[in-house]
Amino acid sequence: MKIEAAVLSSGSDGNAVYIRAGAYSVLIDAGLSGKELERRMKIRDIDPASINAILVTHEHSDHIKGVGVLSRRFNIPIYANQGTWSGSEKKLGKIKAENSQVFSGDFVIGDLAFSPYDISHDAEEPVGYICRAGDQKIVLATDTGIMKNEVVEKISGADLLILESNHDLEMLMTGSYPYFLKNRIKGKEGHLSNDAAAKILPKLLADNFPTVLLAHLSEENNNPKVAYITVNNILKETGYKVGRDLRLGCASQVEPSPIIKLDKESRKRQRAKAKNKFDGDN
Ligand SMILES: [Zn+2]
Ligand SMILES: [Zn+2]
Repeated sequence: MKIEAAVLSSGSDGNAVYIRAGAYSVLIDAGLSGKELERRMKIRDIDPASINAILVTHEHSDHIKGVGVLSRRFNIPIYANQGTWSGSEKKLGKIKAENSQVFSGDFVIGDLAFSPYDISHDAEEPVGYICRAGDQKIVLATDTGIMKNEVVEKISGADLLILESNHDLEMLMTGSYPYFLKNRIKGKEGHLSNDAAAKILPKLLADNFPTVLLAHLSEENNNPKVAYITVNNILKETGYKVGRDLRLGCASQVEPSPIIKLDKESRKRQRAKAKNKFDGDN
């Protein structure tokens, strides 16, 4: 079974993640306009009409802007918990009854099994998602001010981890945002900083050569280079080497990521190659 994923957009201007397993595919969030999401899917050869569901993390507009439009245009069911439905109903426009799916625990869409988990964010009932497909584990962990130990346990060992690295604390504090907004962002129900992501990441890694994408980067208070360096430095301190133990990159606001193929065998081979290279370097 072919398992693949792509981050179509990530950041406060809009978020969307695409996951496919065999004949089934979903979007988690659709926070750009329907038109722009269609354009980005086309770039990656994804047929919007083939999407089986749109899963929503929470009702902030950077996560639901295109949800209603795509659901109506392509007759796609929307999955959200009760709190997120209450928070977003007015913003979504009219949704067909059969496309309004309310979940209250784990659920399955074809070959994709989803476990929503609570995140710490200022919305009605916000969640992140753990997705299992075949022997692969894909985790979306953004829009959370803190990460509790129980969440760390649940989401660790992913093969693909999309982890929030929202702001550089110094850039945020010396930047132009009003004081209340700075406090909201760095608060318990805001967003993880680069430092916070860097400190959590080693606890989340397993011995499976995962791909980690730093996500929801602020355009104002962060940039990919700063996020990458901050995280990479802490990884080095804790004994992890990018390229040998994991792949590390940043998800972009402006363009879709390449399609990431998730396949244990080919990863084993890539990893063996990487290990040889590192051993050769030493
Ligand atoms: Zn967000
Ligand atoms: Zn949010």
